[in-house]
Amino acid sequence: MNSAVPRYQGAAASAETARLSHFIDGRFVPAGRSSFENRHPATGELINFVPEADSAAVDDAVKAAKRALKGPWGKMSEQQRSAILRKVADGIMARFDDFLAAEVLDTGKPKSLAAHIDIPRGAANFNVFADQVLTLSTETFRMATPDGAGALNYAIRGPRGVIAVVCPWNLPLLLMTWKVAPALACGNTVVVKPSEETPTTATMLGEIMNEAGVPPGVYNVVHGFGEDSAGEYLTSHPDVDGITFTGETRTGEAIMRAASRGVRPVSLELGGKNASLVFADCDMDKAIEGVTRAVFANCGQVCLGTERVYVERPIFAEFTQRLKQAAEKLKPGNPFEAATTLGPLISQVHRDKVLSYYAKAKAEGAEIITGGGIPELAAPYSAGSFVEPTIWTGLPEDSAVMREEIFGPCCNIVPFDEEDAVIALANDSPYGLATSIWTENLTRAHRVAAQVEVGITWVNSWFLRDLRTPFGGSKQSGIGREGGVHSMEFYTELRNVCVKL
Ligand code: NAD
Repeated sequence: MNSAVPRYQGAAASAETARLSHFIDGRFVPAGRSSFENRHPATGELINFVPEADSAAVDDAVKAAKRALKGPWGKMSEQQRSAILRKVADGIMARFDDFLAAEVLDTGKPKSLAAHIDIPRGAANFNVFADQVLTLSTETFRMATPDGAGALNYAIRGPRGVIAVVCPWNLPLLLMTWKVAPALACGNTVVVKPSEETPTTATMLGEIMNEAGVPPGVYNVVHGFGEDSAGEYLTSHPDVDGITFTGETRTGEAIMRAASRGVRPVSLELGGKNASLVFADCDMDKAIEGVTRAVFANCGQVCLGTERVYVERPIFAEFTQRLKQAAEKLKPGNPFEAATTLGPLISQVHRDKVLSYYAKAKAEGAEIITGGGIPELAAPYSAGSFVEPTIWTGLPEDSAVMREEIFGPCCNIVPFDEEDAVIALANDSPYGLATSIWTENLTRAHRVAAQVEVGITWVNSWFLRDLRTPFGGSKQSGIGREGGVHSMEFYTELRNVCVKL
């Protein structure tokens, strides 16, 4: 590895973890049928080798998780588990710089972004659900009986059991802990399958779990790919009691099929093709700032990001010009430098996919307002998977670029004239994840928000998250909701006790 990829202290810098390990039953286990390379997307340089779990390694992890349910973890009070989860949050913050460096190396995202979002929110997830589990209530009902004495019903919550946690690469620590924290708070045990693109921080978390006093087998990590690899072995394992997944809709379908054997519950957070609706009565500065983030943050690799921008006709020309200026200000390059505001895409394979949509946009008749290609960067960043931030106009609503999730730093801007018409356009999508509405007219904001068929709507903001609120998608964007009490619903089994008095 040359100097363009800084070394960092901690798990991933030690001799053992230049070759990462699985984390099974509280120990780092290098076993696997083979290993694969993990490369830094900004330069293509090798970060570490990752073992690929075979079905025996996955079975070991699931068995360890199953045993741990019956061990000290299963006997702990909610207060004790909650206290341990706070130590996990503290442990991440104490090793903030290690986690930050590892996440930036694996993803290529700007350090400023990961320092602001990925690592602090990854830690915060443990505190949020440590709180949440202590305030969880259940229902009671008194009922009449023919003998007049009555009966009392009350509900209790127990853990579901072993939870399989399958994660994507765009916000690796944050999205993984968003599932692991509530699952553990509720007394479950987990086997995590991080994305093959970003395996490091999930592995490092094993050390933190041990230091915080999480008993062996409660948190396990197995590495590998999806189909015919660790992902499939895990989600089809008969001793897994529930599966929580974030990733592509197509993968969600495969996971749902796997979950159907044994009728296991699934929580699915899937893809999106999100719209921003910009009305002529918006605060233009706020709208430009927000839509710029929604389109280009994390190089467009955010499930909640915007790829369709509808702008009311009187401000269409000005808005398009200003979004172009904002896009052209983004600075690609070394993600560890403070001045860098645009990282690479996650891999060369993903870059090929995004560039294929850039080509399709041209073929489908788009006017290219800015971008459309690969930025010119000096070595070693010339070998990274960078693309130019790209804005089009003029694409038809039925074009592939307007219908399919691209997951890159790009959008098509469309003028509109009527509120009803733009709501219909926003809703004309197989996805239903997120929307942002830009208007200073509050009556309009509430009226439009109520009609957009998505799980999450922002008014005059984007990505502002209170972790107690419901998070998830409708239509092909997912099943179920995460966040606050909604996560607890998935990670617990609700049982009714009926007592005849
Ligand atoms: P992906 O579906 O390709 O992979 C996600 C994970 O699933 C990886 O760990 C992968 O190894 C595993 N996997 C793949 N095939 C599998 C199979 N057959 N069985 C079991 N596991 C399998 O997704 P990605 O490319 O890592 O992430 C990008 C996608 O995630 C985008 O579609 C994005 O919208 C979506 N996403 C959604 C949300 C949300 O909250 N709705 C958040 C982030 C990302």
